[in-house]
Amino acid sequence: MGRFMSRYFRDKEGYHLGEAPKDRTYIKINANESPYPPSPAVLEVLTEKLLTTQNLYADPKSTELTQAVADYYHIRQEQVFADSGSDVILAYCLLAFGSGRGGFCFPDVTYNFYKTFSTFFGLQAQEIPLKEDFSICVDDYCNCGCNVLLANPNAPTGLKISLADVERIAAANPNHLVIIDEAYVDYGNESCVPLLDRCHNLLVIQTLSKSRSLAGARIGFAISCAENIEDLFQMKAAFNPDSINSISQALGCAAMRDTAYMHQCVGKIIRTREKVRTALLQRGFHVLESHTNFLFFEPVGLSAQALYLALKQEGVLVRYYDQPRICTYIRMSIGTEEQMRTVLAKIDKVLLHCCKPRAAIVSPYASCQTRIEAN
Ligand SMILES: *Cc1c(COP(=O)(O)O)cnc(C)c1O
Repeated sequence: MGRFMSRYFRDKEGYHLGEAPKDRTYIKINANESPYPPSPAVLEVLTEKLLTTQNLYADPKSTELTQAVADYYHIRQEQVFADSGSDVILAYCLLAFGSGRGGFCFPDVTYNFYKTFSTFFGLQAQEIPLKEDFSICVDDYCNCGCNVLLANPNAPTGLKISLADVERIAAANPNHLVIIDEAYVDYGNESCVPLLDRCHNLLVIQTLSKSRSLAGARIGFAISCAENIEDLFQMKAAFNPDSINSISQALGCAAMRDTAYMHQCVGKIIRTREKVRTALLQRGFHVLESHTNFLFFEPVGLSAQALYLALKQEGVLVRYYDQPRICTYIRMSIGTEEQMRTVLAKIDKVLLHCCKPRAAIVSPYASCQTRIEAN
């Protein structure tokens, strides 16, 4: 660390991205990226005209992109805010709506960025424990006295709550904002965007990084009432008014308009996901149901950490979390059918070579240390 880093930030840790080593070719299923390329329509927007106009700043309002989102959800364009990835939109939201206003509450097991942002921005953060089975206790988020931030479906668990539950939470917190992060909504949940007519304290965030196969282009959007969207523009104007570049705007617009392709990719992922889930259950693993493009499971016969390391040796990158409650679990994104066949074969190879007797499934509450030593 340099000498000039502010003391305020010195001891704060950023978000840990899924690793991306370059020493060999890996099957990379640790960041929930789509294994499929973007829509063919996306490839067509890369015209000479788009490239020769790179001397100009992009449209700061992302007019065409926000219109494409508005058309998809049958809402008004004033209700849409786009920026370069949903992470930065989350950052704006936490700052704009959380600072000086009690911060946000969110589950103890969820997208780690929520805590990272809260810590960096010096916001109050209330972590509410999920139930033992990792489901969300909806009552915990009713009248909780602060803003609410929920990923639905949740990550890394893959579990979801219903639209009725979202509505109940919004109704029970009339003087606070309820943010629903729908990064995985296309893989098995209904969007709560239609609730916006009735719930004026609701703000929905989505990304084109997962179901629209555009993680590299960095595009996310927020949907809420026009007033909240104006507030986000005010935040953006203070940080990076032209953040979303013109190439990404054009790519995102084309991807948003190709609903058929998105459904086709999502359909393939869901079919593969259910096959892989069945295969893991057959191996005695404890696998949560999934409404996303990943599976969250507890291996049997070796620790999650051991499986993560062994798979890396085998050229497969999965996500292991060295943190309380979930250190006995692996999060594995769903790749192509062929990739997942390979991954299952690698898992079997690892299981065969790990001669230790089958360990009993340990409760997610067991401390990491005991679990790892026991294996
Ligand atoms: C992937 C993910 C995001 C981030 O998406 P970007 O648009 O790529 O920044 C946000 N929230 C959750 C829950 C995610 O899993």
